[in-house]
Amino acid sequence: MKDDKGLLIVLSGPAGVGKGTVCGALRKQDSNILYSVSATTRQPRAGEIDGVNYFFKSKEEFKKMIENNRLLEWAQYVDNYYGTPLDYVEETIANGQDIILEIEVQGALKVKERYPEGVFIFLMPPSLAELRSRIVGRGTETEDLINKRMTVARAELDMMENYHYVVENDKVDLAVERIRSIVTAEHCKKDRLIDKYKQLAEVE
Ligand code: 5GP
Repeated sequence: MKDDKGLLIVLSGPAGVGKGTVCGALRKQDSNILYSVSATTRQPRAGEIDGVNYFFKSKEEFKKMIENNRLLEWAQYVDNYYGTPLDYVEETIANGQDIILEIEVQGALKVKERYPEGVFIFLMPPSLAELRSRIVGRGTETEDLINKRMTVARAELDMMENYHYVVENDKVDLAVERIRSIVTAEHCKKDRLIDKYKQLAEVE
């Protein structure tokens, strides 16, 4: 038996750890988990599509979204702004569907204040050296940006204690399997189901 509300799942972890790849594989394997498309002021990378990877916005448009309370959370990351559109998240969980937010740690903390019942998962790189080589391998960042991202990554690792689960991304398929197991277990949590079971008992 499932509870009526969908799960709000937050996946964080240092940039370059493979959140995008893991989320993409998760979406392919599990169509029950919907994906929250963030708004950002950063430029699209090659191959990124507006409305699929991000909603690409100007700084002015982003500021308007903040002022009009359209964002569940937002954060400045390196030199750009990123935020989660509120309506889609609320509608999805109210409809009983699970949603995953792939966001950095400051934003995740804001979501946790608002949705303490959310499921917070921290994706870990096997090592910091591996992380740097993944960012370098992506070939989209300058040396200066890579160093900035590594500094942020070290600070992000310290934030792990705010999460409920830690998943190592040694292999994408294994990381996806671990996340799916977490989601299954969360759906079986007594605290999420007890009210529904009590109602059933009353009907009997
Ligand atoms: P990237 O520029 O590599 O796509 O993303 C940079 C960082 O911003 C990543 O850690 C990514 O998870 C995070 N991010 C993406 N969307 C959001 C969002 O809506 N809110 C917050 N707080 N972080 C986000």
